[in-house]
Amino acid sequence: MNRPRIFLSLAHMGGEEQNYIREAFDTNWVAPLGPHVTAFEQALSDYLGENRPVVALASGTAAIHLALILLDVGQGDEVICQSFTFVATANPIRYLGAQPVFVDSERDTWNMDPDLLQQAIEDRIRITGKRPKAIIPVHLYGMPARVDAIMQIADQYGIPVLEDAAEALGSSYRGRKCGTFGRFACLSFNGNKVITTSGGGALVCPDMETAEKALFYATQARDKAPHYQHSEIGYNYRLSNICAGIGRGQMKVLDNHVERRREINRMYRKELSDLPGITFLEEPSTDFRSNHWLTCLQIDPEQAGFTREELRLALEQENIETRPLWKPMHLQPLYAEAPFYGNGTSEALFAKGLCLPSSSILTDEDVCRVRDAFTAVSNKWK
Ligand SMILES: *Cc1c(COP(=O)(O)O)cnc(C)c1O
Repeated sequence: MNRPRIFLSLAHMGGEEQNYIREAFDTNWVAPLGPHVTAFEQALSDYLGENRPVVALASGTAAIHLALILLDVGQGDEVICQSFTFVATANPIRYLGAQPVFVDSERDTWNMDPDLLQQAIEDRIRITGKRPKAIIPVHLYGMPARVDAIMQIADQYGIPVLEDAAEALGSSYRGRKCGTFGRFACLSFNGNKVITTSGGGALVCPDMETAEKALFYATQARDKAPHYQHSEIGYNYRLSNICAGIGRGQMKVLDNHVERRREINRMYRKELSDLPGITFLEEPSTDFRSNHWLTCLQIDPEQAGFTREELRLALEQENIETRPLWKPMHLQPLYAEAPFYGNGTSEALFAKGLCLPSSSILTDEDVCRVRDAFTAVSNKWK
């Protein structure tokens, strides 16, 4: 049994990336600025629509950090953050000495529950006497959050929204791309995301003036002077011209990647949703279009006859990589002290949920191998 390993989510090159890299070498633009960076930013902005300037950065985490700086988050402030997410969503709040306030998910999208959001805002205002500085909903696993309801509440209280769209490039809500609803949005091009620059991210900004400020902080906050002069703290967060070249190549295949991930999701659901005790994360209505970055499901052990962990280990035996859903932030030792407004949803998801291999590079045969291994577990424990 030494069948090749099927990974959760792999980089998937389109072919043009190396031409752009070669061009960068040939012109000696081997630097954290250059023509590829500008062109990649323009391609992202065009793709998202809505005329939002985009600043290419070294990571999605850097984008969240800069957005919070531009939202004037600092010591003594609170920021509301979806609990069910990857830790990179929350950590930049702490970089700035602010306090995250975690909000649980709702059952359909697995993203921020609007009712709990409202409750949390009211409660924080009552306790601290001031409004939270920002709200960070996440489009987790590519599934758009309940954008309308969240934006309405945010507007009602005058609190800006930073969308974490790191997993949701290519997803849309009511025909509009994720990453264009909040004042800011972050994107990620880490190695396992829908497209990759080998490592990188971007900040989607509301206007040019803000984008220029983001760029200023991303390049060491240098004052306008011929010598190096600094009045503020800055960061070294710019994306390199080489990485942006990879990004330009990836933009040409982004829609294909999204279509393939959606197709893989359809295959899994068709083949596996009839098994007892298995429920997939599905688009709640036609308003929601997920890139299905990862196909996710929940296992009810009573009905299925096996637990999430038993399934994961059985698939691992077949050299198939799967992963439990994200462990919510309010359950992390790091954030044990942070306020949390919950309803049990993300805890249940963490206990029962699993991500299946979803790379756009997977072949139909790979998907069938996962299906067969999965079905075998179901039959064995029935
Ligand atoms: C990947 C990811 C990030 C961070 O992006 P990096 O580019 O890895 O820094 C942030 N939030 C979520 C939900 C992510 O999945």
